Amino acid sequence: MARYTGPVCRLCRREGIKLYLKGERCFSDKCAIDRRPYPPGQHGQGRRRTTEYGLQLREKQKARRYYGVMEKQFRSYYEEAARRQGVTGENLLQLLECRLDNVVYRLGFASSRAEARQLVRHGHFNVNGRRVDIPSYQVKPGDVVSIREKSQQNARFKELLEAAQSRTIPAWLELDLDARSGKVLRLPARDEIDAPVAEQLIVEHYSR
Ligand code: SF4
Repeated sequence: MARYTGPVCRLCRREGIKLYLKGERCFSDKCAIDRRPYPPGQHGQGRRRTTEYGLQLREKQKARRYYGVMEKQFRSYYEEAARRQGVTGENLLQLLECRLDNVVYRLGFASSRAEARQLVRHGHFNVNGRRVDIPSYQVKPGDVVSIREKSQQNARFKELLEAAQSRTIPAWLELDLDARSGKVLRLPARDEIDAPVAEQLIVEHYSR
């Protein structure tokens, strides 16, 4: 599946909010949105008019960028969310949260979703004891995501596991640092998802 390979800090600047796409750098004073808190480009500091369509579009783009998903796949998530019972916007966020790369990031086994995606792609994780290298893999309640035994000796994982000790893990996940694994306890409720996204605007965008 394709992924965005361009400059990422400009995505945060475009959305006007920290999307935490660069791991440790996002918490340092090198963060671009702290240094240049205006949209990128020649007209970034000019006056902007916002239409209703513009607001909905920005919200959709923000969610896509936050989770690192391309347009085609994002639309498939929306269609699946609309098919499911319940509130479409919440279903959409739930589908995005349950991506394997997001769960790896939430458990603290990666410093950003982009790193999580790469680590998954390189085959460093098992789900229920079997190797899974698909970042978009949907985890289910009861699934156990673990770092593969061979990868645990990797210097990067040692660093990440050290940092994971001080990370706050969402209540729908359970981290077992000794076993280098995490369990999905249940599907996340809306108030357990801290994505800075107004999902209703995304639903309105796709319902036009
Ligand atoms: Fe966004 Fe992180 Fe870049 Fe800051 S450092 S602009 S939060 S990606």
